[in-house]
Amino acid sequence: MDEVLFGVLAENVGRHLDGLDRRVAHSEELRRLVAAWRTLLDLHRPGGRRGRCTGCVESRQRAMCTVWRVANAFFTR
Ligand SMILES: [Zn+2]
Repeated sequence: MDEVLFGVLAENVGRHLDGLDRRVAHSEELRRLVAAWRTLLDLHRPGGRRGRCTGCVESRQRAMCTVWRVANAFFTR
């Protein structure tokens, strides 16, 4: 994935999760859900020279991996 595009996406998703963190302070379950999403997204960050997902073993393409596609669809609207 393009480094600049990923940076914008990661910033938007991170901002959404930050907002959730502030609003769900009273809910342990929702706090755990946000923490799980952050961990999952960290495991699927593009890395290396080719910018492929480091979490998807079968990743051969430079396109956004499915984890980030789901995060984009649900968290950046
Ligand atoms: Zn991935």
